[in-house]
Amino acid sequence: MLRRTAEPLSSWTTLHLGGPARTFVEVATRAELYDTVRALDARGEPVLVLGGGSNVVVADAGFEGTVVRVGTRGVDISDDACGGVGVTVEAGEDWGALVARAVHEKWIGIEALAGIPGTTGAVPIQNVGAYGQEVSDTVASVHVYDRTERRTRTFFSADCEFGYRTSMFKQTPGHYVVGGVTFQFRPGNLGAPVGYAELARTLGVEVGERAPAAEVRSAVLRLRSRKGMVLDEPDHDTWSAGSFFTNPLVASGDLPNGAPAWEQRDGRVKTSAAWLIEGAGFTRGYGNKRARLSAKHTLALTNRGDASTDDLLALAREVRDGVRQKFGIELAPEPVLVGCSL
Ligand SMILES: Cc1cc2nc3c(=O)[nH]c(=O)nc-3n(C[C@H](O)[C@H](O)[C@H](O)COP(=O)(O)OP(=O)(O)OC[C@H]3O[C@@H](n4cnc5c(N)ncnc54)[C@H](O)[C@@H]3O)c2cc1C
Repeated sequence: MLRRTAEPLSSWTTLHLGGPARTFVEVATRAELYDTVRALDARGEPVLVLGGGSNVVVADAGFEGTVVRVGTRGVDISDDACGGVGVTVEAGEDWGALVARAVHEKWIGIEALAGIPGTTGAVPIQNVGAYGQEVSDTVASVHVYDRTERRTRTFFSADCEFGYRTSMFKQTPGHYVVGGVTFQFRPGNLGAPVGYAELARTLGVEVGERAPAAEVRSAVLRLRSRKGMVLDEPDHDTWSAGSFFTNPLVASGDLPNGAPAWEQRDGRVKTSAAWLIEGAGFTRGYGNKRARLSAKHTLALTNRGDASTDDLLALAREVRDGVRQKFGIELAPEPVLVGCSL
């Protein structure tokens, strides 16, 4: 097991931000992951489970405890009676590689989630989604270590309380360690019905129609690259945590004039955080030499190379406060804030 002290977390986050972890370990198997967390809990040691570091903002002061980086590997395939394919994936498997493999193996349902960085164990945490797909569409069950009950458990999808960029795992931070995820894919060449207008236009189909999964994946990667939403080390527009704010859910009467609106089942509407940010006067590239909005997408807050977490949070507060002042709508951060707050 890899073990270091005073490891700079800026080396392990896509924002390239975060002070040192007092102790940093990397685990290679699910048993090692669970045993390590169990032992640290028994000692009362603070624990941060870390995947690809693409959805965390870590304080400049770092983490006074042990960071357990999930480096577990393994993909187990089982055909089931309903004609679907069950695939159980260890938490540390790279998500983008799994999407590429799914398209290659003709497993349908995650092709539009290409280009999202990070590990497979993290995808149920905030129910990752993009271009009309959410991972909850294909997650069958999530295998965890329950740190409160000190036992392993399996939650079926219906019990995970998946919602827009949330789940019970995100609602109860630190309670569960995800060891693996079982997906239920339909087999085929055509991707799931395209649920996003921009993607449908790019593919030359109507919303609700289907296109070859390989083409969906390629189109998504192209669209994302243009927006700086695919990691690219030399491009500081990608030194981010993706979208910094979630799209707010508001009562329809509170929707600003002209704002995009997607109706929700609970009667509220989801509107666009990027539209609100731009409407409040924050343009692409807004900020200073250290921390700025991406030049390609106003929703991504980026580190230009020598920012601190404090610089990034100052920018986030300015944007949040500007939107509140202009529209009376409170933007909420999407990444998990570790040792810091907005
Ligand atoms: C350029 C870019 C584009 C992005 N685009 C999207 C997008 O389109 N849609 C979207 O939904 N997200 C997007 N994201 C956010 C992010 O990639 C996802 O949320 C991703 O699933 C996080 O994975 P990770 O392994 O990096 O998690 P980390 O950042 O390492 O961790 C995130 C949180 O999950 C917890 N966690 C991680 N692994 C485990 C585990 N095994 N068990 C328990 N807890 C765990 C961590 O403690 C932390 O609280 C983007 C990020 C970037 C940088």
